Amino acid sequence: MIVDIINKKRLGEELTYKELDTFFNGFLEGDVKDYQMSALLMAICIQGMTDEEIFALTKIFIDSGDVLDLSFIPGVKVDKHSTGGIGDKTTLIIAPIVASLGIPVIKMSGRGLGYTGGTIDKLESIPGFRVDLSEEELIAQVQQIGIAITSQTASLAPMDKPIYALRDVTATVSSIPLIAASIMSKKIAGGASKILIDIKVGNGALLHTKEEAEKLSELVIKIGEYYQREVRTMISDMNAPLGVAIGNSLEVLEAVKVLRGEEKDNNLTKLCIELASEMVCMAKDVSKSEATKLVIETIDSLQAYDKFLEFVKSQHGDLEELCVSKKVKKVKATKSGVLEKIDALELGKLSVALGAGRNSKEESIDYEVGIELQKQVGDRIKKGDVLCLVYYRQPIRLQEIDRIFLIK
Ligand code: URA
Repeated sequence: MIVDIINKKRLGEELTYKELDTFFNGFLEGDVKDYQMSALLMAICIQGMTDEEIFALTKIFIDSGDVLDLSFIPGVKVDKHSTGGIGDKTTLIIAPIVASLGIPVIKMSGRGLGYTGGTIDKLESIPGFRVDLSEEELIAQVQQIGIAITSQTASLAPMDKPIYALRDVTATVSSIPLIAASIMSKKIAGGASKILIDIKVGNGALLHTKEEAEKLSELVIKIGEYYQREVRTMISDMNAPLGVAIGNSLEVLEAVKVLRGEEKDNNLTKLCIELASEMVCMAKDVSKSEATKLVIETIDSLQAYDKFLEFVKSQHGDLEELCVSKKVKKVKATKSGVLEKIDALELGKLSVALGAGRNSKEESIDYEVGIELQKQVGDRIKKGDVLCLVYYRQPIRLQEIDRIFLIK
């Protein structure tokens, strides 16, 4: 039976709800083995899935755990998800912006795996910060201050975790149907009625082409319609890192700068304003230009920053104690020219090598290491200019620098 299901998908045929349910729940219960699930995931990766199969798989993921009921919190609950990228600290910035405008933010976030970081690791770099709020604490905090972020509880779409771990080691992470079911099951179980998905595309992202990103966008919107959730998407570039900092404490410090209005003109601030405006638009039913005006006002008046401080304090974090490594190496240009490209993927790999990310989910990470860019694409560079600062714990060899910074 199990082998027949794998074979059916291998031949490109549509699986029924019952077949998918038997297979995936059988895996959770230990009746379907890792190697069998790996084979099915690869067959899905190659043959794809029909919409009906994707809706069924999303339902199976959702039904593997609880669904949060947020109806007792007044107001429209909008959630945001990013498919992951290098230097992506947007949640740290957008969540307090949106909350400072009276829109409740109740968010379950994940840890990073591989070269993409996770919001929870970044928050944990703030000494004392609690990421393990119980459901009751989460709800009480949202009622009190309008914002709470905690790590993904084991009770929401628990099937996603072991499947994702297997996808990660079987080269099946980039399957669009599997990404859609994984994201949407967690978002629907999280209880939000409106969902904004930031789909990253580029060499530092899961998806490398605009066509793939558009396909994912279409799919998550369809799943949203099926579950009566409004889903909007934004496709954003991930060929260069977002902002200048990569690494947990460094990214928190950069988020603080954006919230204090000190970084007005880079790709990070622009994307955060775009995403936050879209969320405000969805929650308040105002036009995009009105929403953008509200977002800029709440940053300029420091209300968003104050909300961030309130949020960090409420979860016991102490920003004063946030540290970055004192060991800093200046990486200098070996030639003059124009900086044509900063390779996000190579920077991501460097950050993992420094210890800022993990290669397997069991690994611990070093919050204080990372990279801070000193130059941007398009800058004119003189030989000897500092391209980036590397905050390290153990010295590492930096052979890949010429691959990261393309100067012509
Ligand atoms: N983010 C997720 O949550 N799941 C995926 O499969 C990919 C990105």
